[in-house]
Amino acid sequence: DSGLQKTRDNLWSRLGKLFTGKSTIDDEWLDELEEALISADVGIDTTVEILNRLQQRAARERYRNSGELQQLLEQTILSLLPPVQHPAAVQPFQLPDNKRPYVILVVGVNGVGKTTTIGKLAYQYKQAGYQVLLGAADTFRAAAVDQLTIWSERAGVPLVKQAMGADPGAVAFDTVQSAIARNMDVAIIDTAGRLHNKKHLMDELGKIRRVISKKLPGAPHEVLLVLDGSTGQNALEQAKQFMAVTELTGLVVTKLDGTAKGGVVLAIAHQCQIPIRYIGLGEKITDLQPFDPESFVHSLFA
Ligand code: GDP
Repeated sequence: DSGLQKTRDNLWSRLGKLFTGKSTIDDEWLDELEEALISADVGIDTTVEILNRLQQRAARERYRNSGELQQLLEQTILSLLPPVQHPAAVQPFQLPDNKRPYVILVVGVNGVGKTTTIGKLAYQYKQAGYQVLLGAADTFRAAAVDQLTIWSERAGVPLVKQAMGADPGAVAFDTVQSAIARNMDVAIIDTAGRLHNKKHLMDELGKIRRVISKKLPGAPHEVLLVLDGSTGQNALEQAKQFMAVTELTGLVVTKLDGTAKGGVVLAIAHQCQIPIRYIGLGEKITDLQPFDPESFVHSLFA
């Protein structure tokens, strides 16, 4: 089980019958495909693009049976998604050799699973043999620091924090400074994401980034936005809003277990053209997977 059972059940219950013995595309078939994609929260824009590209490909490529038709659809969907680009072409949970400490800034609104994701990332990097340091620069909610403290203990990694209400930039600076002094391989920094005031968020993230890069030129090396996949199209809207306030290197889509709206991953990847780096498939520390477009798309149908 890939953890995507609900999305798959929903899609497949509709798509399955589209592929039984069927090897020609007609209007009725396209209508049913459209409905299935929209019901899985792929969204109108991405669904329309999938249908257009599929029709174009079907007009010039051979498909002789339902299996090949399904393959054509999978390839069409894949052609919409940005390629997976891990920074410096390193493998998931491997760090490029020449960047120490490697600094990852994590952004996203409250409740999306940001803290959990940081805990999962810390755990994976630690498992890979790296020295990991966390930074609690979301200083506006006492709960955020408490939660991150719990996750740092679960992952078995140290945490830099200050009193609640402290300047987030100061915590970020402290974290990077401490990571340098302690010879850490990777520092993962949590930030507050309050979208109700875009200008404020933009200024604050801008300041945190400047402080980090002043201490360590070239850092942050990654800025990851965490999105809650179970909110469907809202997650896509959030991604667009964050893209407007700060530069992102990658996305994490959480809570894809237990939702039938997993199709939103396709909409996010297609419309943002920022690589989805990881997907969250549960509440446990091990429930984070590198995102692989090919196996994701295939798992929706298989
Ligand atoms: P934050 O406010 O963004 O830091 O969110 P948290 O990390 O505290 O997570 C909010 C809730 O979502 C918690 O109950 C988590 O256990 C839950 N959560 C986070 N990631 C996942 C996931 O991938 N799957 C599921 N089912 N729950 C998750």
